[in-house]
Amino acid sequence: MTSLNYELRRRIAEAATQMCEQSLTTGLNAGDISVFDRDAGLIYALPRPCAQLPIRSWRDIRPEDVAVITPDGKVVQDSYQTPTVEIPMHLRLYEARPDTNAIVHSHGEWSQVFAAAGKDIPTATIDTYTHCGFAPIRCGKFGMVGSEELAVAMVEAVGVSAKAALMECHGAVALGYDLENSMLVARVIERAARQALFAYLIGGPQQLGLDHVISDRDLATRITSGDARLHTEDLQRMA
Ligand SMILES: [Zn+2]
Repeated sequence: MTSLNYELRRRIAEAATQMCEQSLTTGLNAGDISVFDRDAGLIYALPRPCAQLPIRSWRDIRPEDVAVITPDGKVVQDSYQTPTVEIPMHLRLYEARPDTNAIVHSHGEWSQVFAAAGKDIPTATIDTYTHCGFAPIRCGKFGMVGSEELAVAMVEAVGVSAKAALMECHGAVALGYDLENSMLVARVIERAARQALFAYLIGGPQQLGLDHVISDRDLATRITSGDARLHTEDLQRMA
């Protein structure tokens, strides 16, 4: 029997209810959340609602409803629940991005405007630019729900360092170093989308670059090439 982390399941269930309260979902069971406990080698994910688990809204989820799987997608013996239909995307992103330990897939209204148009969201303020990984929020190519095609498109959209991306005609993904960080990025994506839409009314948003936040050109070059990483926390230490 595997020892499952009840506290982590409780926090994921709590975050799922917050998705409803923070307008990161339509209020039902759209979108999902996962957390990768890399020490234990287990991924905790919101379940796939079904006849045996008729969750109509993430407000109704219980900690024991959170599915637990191995990194190759197998449900662990004492989990009982099947993970979200988008689990191939989560697995691919964890594989591609070792800096990521939590993922929120949201269906927020403002980001869906850009996803519907198939357009990137400019990150035009210091806080949206830094929280989203020092990059615009790219819109990944369309893929069917739950498909490997969609998973590959999202790995390509986030690249080596972005923390946010759009799923064309669908929603968004937010990558975090922990659950709270991924929820924060998901909220910032909505903020960036809303700000950009209003900025288009008065001449269009700008896109910030690394030269707006750091003065060290060598470091900026290494970050751009993927040889160095810059985190929001690093900026706070430099300030
Ligand atoms: Zn979705």
